[in-house]
Amino acid sequence: MSRYPYLFRRLELGSTVLPNRIVMGSMHTGLESRPDGPERLAAFYAERARGGAALIVTGGFSPNAAGNLGPHRAEMSTEADRDRHADIPRAVHAEGGRIVLQLLHSGRYGFHDRIVAPSPLKSPINSQAPRELAAEEIQRTIEDFAQAARLAREAGYDGVEIMGSEGYLITQFLAARTNRRSDEWGGPLENRLRFPSEIVRRVRAATGAGFLVVFRLSALDLVEGGLDAADTIRVARAIEAAGATLLNTGIGWHEARIPTIAQAVPRGAFAWASRRIREAVKIPVIASNRINAPELAEEILARGDADMVSLARAMLADPEFAAKAHAGDREGINICIACNQACLDHYFTGEPASCVVNPRAGRETELAFRPPSARKTIAVVGGGPAGLSCAAVAAERGHAVTLFEQGSELGGQFNLAKRVPGKQEFAESIAYYGERLRRAGARVLLNRAPGEAELRAFDEVVVATGVRPRKPPIPGIDHPKVIGYADLLSGRASAGRDVAIVGMGGIGFDVALYLLYAGEPATLDPAAFAAHWGIAPDGALREPASAGAPRHRITMLKRSSTPFGHTLGRTTGWVHRAELARGGVRMMKAVEYLRIEDAGLHVRVEGNDQLIAADTIVICAGQEAHRAVVGRHVIGGAREAGELDAERAMLEGARLGAAL
Ligand code: NAP
Ligand code: SF4
Repeated sequence: MSRYPYLFRRLELGSTVLPNRIVMGSMHTGLESRPDGPERLAAFYAERARGGAALIVTGGFSPNAAGNLGPHRAEMSTEADRDRHADIPRAVHAEGGRIVLQLLHSGRYGFHDRIVAPSPLKSPINSQAPRELAAEEIQRTIEDFAQAARLAREAGYDGVEIMGSEGYLITQFLAARTNRRSDEWGGPLENRLRFPSEIVRRVRAATGAGFLVVFRLSALDLVEGGLDAADTIRVARAIEAAGATLLNTGIGWHEARIPTIAQAVPRGAFAWASRRIREAVKIPVIASNRINAPELAEEILARGDADMVSLARAMLADPEFAAKAHAGDREGINICIACNQACLDHYFTGEPASCVVNPRAGRETELAFRPPSARKTIAVVGGGPAGLSCAAVAAERGHAVTLFEQGSELGGQFNLAKRVPGKQEFAESIAYYGERLRRAGARVLLNRAPGEAELRAFDEVVVATGVRPRKPPIPGIDHPKVIGYADLLSGRASAGRDVAIVGMGGIGFDVALYLLYAGEPATLDPAAFAAHWGIAPDGALREPASAGAPRHRITMLKRSSTPFGHTLGRTTGWVHRAELARGGVRMMKAVEYLRIEDAGLHVRVEGNDQLIAADTIVICAGQEAHRAVVGRHVIGGAREAGELDAERAMLEGARLGAAL
């Protein structure tokens, strides 16, 4: 019997039979609007179909020009679009998979100058106000959805997903927050839901009975003026009656100030919201958000929260997630750590989505791991992210790899990260890479720092010895009240009540989070999370649970005058800042460090000398490259510490591992 019996039950959807309950959810890959997009998307989705996902949902494509997300066109509105797409469903079908095209109209969330919405109200996450749609334009937009679905069908897609969550155009029609119309499209809910109902009805009429029509419904809006539980159920029933095959769920508008997929969100935290929709309709319902492991997916299905589970980022991290789960190979799954760093954050820099823990994601046509022409002996010195990534790829390609790690465990900086509240998932990555090395037959030598003579015996030497914390030249830096971030996070040192943190990069913020919240359940337990962020049991917003007196009085300092936390992730930095504000953290910029002595840290700000009274001063002033040995190849932090992050370390490791 399967280790996950609920996950691997078939699902009949009329003439379509899905082999399991795993949906690869929609993600913006950044490839949608690129000239080589179709070719790369075909390879990307085909790999996920081969990996066993029962149903794949593409990134969003707009049914017309006004609905594009950005200035670059990503539409399904012309016959040329249809023809450009045909390779994508063809490639997925060749692998035995099924794929639906997501139709997304951005409404007031678009970042271009033609944005439209039910009412001309600016979103708090967009500097530009939309133009109000005239009644005849609403009819035309509905027809555009129907036309796009028809084209999708002709292109070979198995269906469409109509994006009706996350605060895009359809949700803007549904919620009184954004719909102030007084015609037949606004006012009471029965008018506001006319727009999505008509879209589903006309899409169904345009495509016929066998075509999959998935509607992604906002199960929780998490904004003032959003739908309540009763309204959401009415919408779900109307969508079912209009002819949808499946109801997918989404959580929270993009402008909501509650995290919905970040690391701060416990696994499966919102599955309960799918359950109440499932209880109200007969068509299958899909749960989503922070579902990243098969045992969790199984639990959600077994509990009756949903009929299927949607995993998006988890499929970036491991395209073979479904096949491995089917084989019961939990240890072989590369788990998404919910960092958003190489996937969602890339959208804002215009880079295609990839994955920190799986650098091949989105590079399927570029980063191939082929057998080498000759088998070599390779020493990889350093078992952090760069070394692990390089050693795993090189060993799997067939080289004889020996990994030397000076410490007593693999993982490097990941071992510190995993202790930060919300970053527990880093432990999964360490375990996964360790398992890959074991399976590939690599020799792992812990507590071993090789000498030059020993390394001379290898054909290739890879230096991946990482970084050393920078010790800033502040007078008094050796005072006993000064500790390093690594000492604190590893438990070798502890902090007193008043803490000054020198340096406000990612690690400075992590240290503050650790001091305030280590051991608290808000990032692990859905009920504690809901109380912490102010979500009532029925999904309504309420006051967050009282934070109480913070454990530490923290002052964070930096020399530059850039905005606080500007180096944090685009989609996650606000969560960190909100948590630290709640913990009463004081932040100071444009600071000159004068000296450290018994009373604390003396600084000068705008010409005024001040004392930051502190029991403990934690140094988070960045890192310097640490090259413990000499070797031909140097990767990760050992190559360059500046701007080092896990994404670059893992990518450099994989690239070198593929090239050796
Ligand atoms: P970082 O982001 O480079 O920040 C280093 C901090 O130290 C800066 O605030 C810098 O600010 C300060 N600093 C540098 N030289 C100094 C000196 N000589 N004296 C005093 N202060 C000095 O490095 P990090 O925080 O160690 O993080 C390392 C890497 O991991 C980064 O790439 C980071 O993005 C990544 N990371 C990311 C996250 C995340 O949540 N996204 C979390 C952890 C780590 P001033 O120069 O203004 O003083
Ligand atoms: Fe998950 Fe991070 Fe990879 Fe995105 S980059 S898929 S969040 S592990």
